[in-house]
Amino acid sequence: MTSTFIYDLSHNELAEILASWGESTFRAKQLWQGLYLQLWDSTDRFTNLPSTLRQRLADTFLFTHLQPETTLSSHDGETIKTLFRLPDAQPVEAVLMRYEKRRTLCISTQAGCAMGCVFCATGQMGFRRNLTSGEIVEQVLYYARQLHQEGDEVTNIVVMGMGEPFHNYDATLGAIDRLNERDGFNFGARRFTISTVGLVPAIRRFAAEKRQINLAVSLHAADDELRSSLMPVNRKYNIDELLSACREYIELTGRRISFEWALIQGVNDTPEQARLLGERLQVIKRKGTLLCHVNVILLNPSPHYEQRASTSANAEAFLAEIRRHGIPCSLRLRRGIDIQAGCGQLAGQKY
Ligand code: SAH
Ligand code: SF4
Repeated sequence: MTSTFIYDLSHNELAEILASWGESTFRAKQLWQGLYLQLWDSTDRFTNLPSTLRQRLADTFLFTHLQPETTLSSHDGETIKTLFRLPDAQPVEAVLMRYEKRRTLCISTQAGCAMGCVFCATGQMGFRRNLTSGEIVEQVLYYARQLHQEGDEVTNIVVMGMGEPFHNYDATLGAIDRLNERDGFNFGARRFTISTVGLVPAIRRFAAEKRQINLAVSLHAADDELRSSLMPVNRKYNIDELLSACREYIELTGRRISFEWALIQGVNDTPEQARLLGERLQVIKRKGTLLCHVNVILLNPSPHYEQRASTSANAEAFLAEIRRHGIPCSLRLRRGIDIQAGCGQLAGQKY
């Protein structure tokens, strides 16, 4: 019999299983809190449960799917990246970035990705499979346990690792809901950010659900020809459709959107692209304000894309131009560049 992965189950599902075994709701609560509050990772740790129940849990459930294979630390020790292997040997990466008081985790939602963005190491691997909600949750618990031992904790979670979260919508939101539960991990929705390549129907669904989770949209180009050449998804949902879904999101939620823009020398860092971006973003203006922020980063190298990152002079000129259009923006630091902390870079190299 294959065992159920315990982190795939919601609080209710676990409580129902325990009830079917004749256990009290108190036991279900102890189990939940052991998993998500004490962060225990095996039945041996549950010394507060009777040994018969512990044995039954051990016989019924798997407590881990992720096997850490390679861990790299940046020179300053502030960024740690782990490549995990799933039970079926698929690779998954997660990164911890320490910055001043922030402890930001970057987690994955798929092994590989089907979206094929040409500059992305994960896209270059192709699609392997969706992660389950438990496999998404476990990445967070893995680092939370490490930080806990140092008397520290995760402060932010960005869903910007391998894969397209909105292409695995239910498992991604299921994982976030589980981590969000009050009497468990209790991680506030506002401390999550989901980044999407721009799957329009999923953005609309997300908007209608009016969640407090932050939304980032990977834009990277301001005209359809260029965006389609970098991101094949643009042939299905073009920039007009994407921005209209973004506008709907802003109207329904009143929340700001971050647009991601990786600067590629001579490709999307031109004054023309900056001007076009500045103009196009005006369509999401709401009551005179632009509820958005453009996060500009420099392209990370990836194995099968030969273009380079922009020079800092071009980056500054690009930012200055979009600022002239009244667009809030900033240049983000490339953190962990020496350990290939970019999306899918480690797994992409091994496979
Ligand atoms: N699939 C989602 C989230 C994962 S990728 C998305 O595409 O938004 C997270 C971010 O990294 C995205 O903004 C993506 O465009 C960006 N990215 C991918 N490859 C990159 C590279 N080589 N250099 C810089 N940013 C990259
Ligand atoms: Fe997939 Fe995001 Fe990479 Fe595009 S950038 S291939 S959507 S992971």
